[in-house]
Amino acid sequence: MVVSFRVPPRHVYVHVPFCARRCSYCDFAIAVRSRVPWDEYVAAVAAELDVRALGVPRVSVDTIYLGGGTPSRLGPEGVTQLMEVLTSRFAPAESAEITLEANPDDIDALSLAAWQAAGVNRISLGVQSFDDRALAWMHRTHDSRRVIAAANALREAALENWSLDLIFALPASLQRDWARDLDAAIALAPPHLSLYGLTVEPHTPLARWRDRGAAVEGTEDAYETEYLRAHHALRAAGYVHYEVSNFGRPGRWSRHNRSYWSGASYVGLGPAAHGFDGTVRRWNEREYSAWRRVLETGADPVSGSESLTDENRIAEEVYLGLRTTDGLPVRAEEQDVIRPWVDVGWAMLDGDRLRLSAMGWLRLDALAASLTAVRSR
Ligand code: SF4
Repeated sequence: MVVSFRVPPRHVYVHVPFCARRCSYCDFAIAVRSRVPWDEYVAAVAAELDVRALGVPRVSVDTIYLGGGTPSRLGPEGVTQLMEVLTSRFAPAESAEITLEANPDDIDALSLAAWQAAGVNRISLGVQSFDDRALAWMHRTHDSRRVIAAANALREAALENWSLDLIFALPASLQRDWARDLDAAIALAPPHLSLYGLTVEPHTPLARWRDRGAAVEGTEDAYETEYLRAHHALRAAGYVHYEVSNFGRPGRWSRHNRSYWSGASYVGLGPAAHGFDGTVRRWNEREYSAWRRVLETGADPVSGSESLTDENRIAEEVYLGLRTTDGLPVRAEEQDVIRPWVDVGWAMLDGDRLRLSAMGWLRLDALAASLTAVRSR
């Protein structure tokens, strides 16, 4: 299936599936490889662009996001070649945001110089914690020393736009000190931070540990306490909590992610990548080998698609509107649903725009569901 975009997409996501090993909590589509076949992978991305007739004619794009997996495992040469393939089809606008997700182990002066020369101007650093015991439990390949070395390398490379990921709500048995981790993150002065609460996904090492009683999930209370602690600490340090899981300094909010939250169309390339043309959402073969095999036959690696129904559209509009500080325009007849949220401090009404507080974001799914139900009647 070749998707024709009614409006040319201005955002490109590329899934790079390679990881050194699987983190204990991770259910992403990854390919564990000790040696990354970057040349084979880049050739397959080029084949996908051909098969799907994307980037013809060469269109201007505002963001390119290399996510994963661990895109930094492509190394200097792999990222350079991948960017060459992408920019032969898409023309990054002068101010385009080009992000590479990186593990701290892969960051050094040489790689950074090559990535910057290839056009990368934003790094998203998968840190997760500064507690070496917690990092080992997560099966992360780095320790806290590597994080600090990576942050220093970013500073020396004058890379001004970067983000740091942390995970909260770890099992209490790990005795991870969340306040200490937040302080350590703030001390590195990243322009942007993303925080994710740990959830136990099926078929992960963590789910197996839980099922045999070797790990106990963090409680909902701990989740809420740590989320709110982060909200207050990061705001006090000058960050804007602009989306459920994201904090940024002014001018450093993730433009690529904001395109998803605003319902913009985007191209998705690589195994398991999703794309959206404004009406139809499509997703690729999940496994790296399956995705490549399909491309070798000259076929489109799509494995599924769905058209948004009116109900889907309403649900997306509500959910996406409520998850950012942009908020959601609401109507007079919705006041009865909204008023109780405002009264308890879960939301604020500013004219006709409803914005959730951090307490509200903790209940986002439930609040969005009630408003969607009203709008779908
Ligand atoms: S590095 Fe990221 S994508 Fe890879 S296994 Fe760990 S969490 Fe999953």
